Amino acid sequence: MDIIEELRTFREKDIPYSRVLSSMCTIPHPVALEAHKMFVETNLGDPGIFRGTVELEKKLMSMIGELLHCKTPAGYICSGGTEANIQGVRAARNVQRKQRKGNLNIVIPKTAHFSFEKIGDILGVEIRRAGVDEEYRVDVGEVEKLVDESTIAIVGIAGTTELGQIDPIVELSKLAEERGIELHVDAAFGGLVIPFMDSPYPFDFQNSGVSSITIDPHKMGMATIPAGGIVFKDESYLMALEVETPYLTSKTQFTLTGTRPGTGVASAYAVLRHLGYDGMRKVVMGCLRNTRIIVEEMLSLGFEPVIEPVMNVVAFPTEEAERIKDELYRRRWVISTIREPKAIRFVVMPHVTEEVIKEFISDFRKVVGNG
Ligand code: PLP
Repeated sequence: MDIIEELRTFREKDIPYSRVLSSMCTIPHPVALEAHKMFVETNLGDPGIFRGTVELEKKLMSMIGELLHCKTPAGYICSGGTEANIQGVRAARNVQRKQRKGNLNIVIPKTAHFSFEKIGDILGVEIRRAGVDEEYRVDVGEVEKLVDESTIAIVGIAGTTELGQIDPIVELSKLAEERGIELHVDAAFGGLVIPFMDSPYPFDFQNSGVSSITIDPHKMGMATIPAGGIVFKDESYLMALEVETPYLTSKTQFTLTGTRPGTGVASAYAVLRHLGYDGMRKVVMGCLRNTRIIVEEMLSLGFEPVIEPVMNVVAFPTEEAERIKDELYRRRWVISTIREPKAIRFVVMPHVTEEVIKEFISDFRKVVGNG
């Protein structure tokens, strides 16, 4: 068998995105694919060789900085939200270390992504979890109680993984400033959604207490995987991450990985430049409209959302969440469930079109005995 034929047999076993309502990733934009192909052999880990790609990353970072209301953005495109969160907290630890006592800790919302489990393990910082209010936003009073002399940073989420909710970043920013600690905002998903919504919530560097933001082009930015983003409010945070690189074309490196693809940079840049803010707004609006369609369909079947969707993520409580998910999977549909409350969850990415929704709801009806 021809090797490409052989590869196809594996690839065909993958479930196509048109059957996936659980993922925060999507089909890359065609312009992202073109850009990816062009930069496929680039390695940003050796910047003296790939000088053009380095320049492109700088342009992309200033575009992202502008979107996030930062005049002095410093950061880079990494493997994803997990790495971006690790680097955000690692920089906070290195910046704060001298001023803090005892076993260092960070305070995160209970609703935080599981990457923070890894962060606790890798960095050896204690992870303190604050509860949420009835709308699943972190309770700032609880965060305040958990902060002590060993706290290096607070984490707020702009677009929680499970419900798409936005934490009160404005209040968290004030608290971080009062206590002289860092505030890392995990906007891995929401970072490329919120700025394109009507009257966007100020989740970004407009708040002077925000030190770093995770924002992933390989989610709503429609870039090719891997393309995560970490942005610091200024270069001092990157300097706190630097190590010496004796045998490369650079003297130091602030990234977590060494060898690093330029494909994410090129594809993210291509999409943002090609679509512009207006094009991105259209994509986001389309996803929000389709989220509404799902909500209406689900309401007609007797399912009420856990919270009114804030963005294109929505969950519906049901004791039967696991059974529904498994039964749909047998029919080659992928949805997910969440931790609290027991619920089924949909992420309405650009590939979840009206047509996909129609087909999905027809199968969903059968699974819940309503078709
Ligand atoms: N942060 C949030 C809020 C997320 O939703 C996710 C992934 O869904 C991550 C971080 C981790 O991103 P990645 O899977 O790209 O590492």
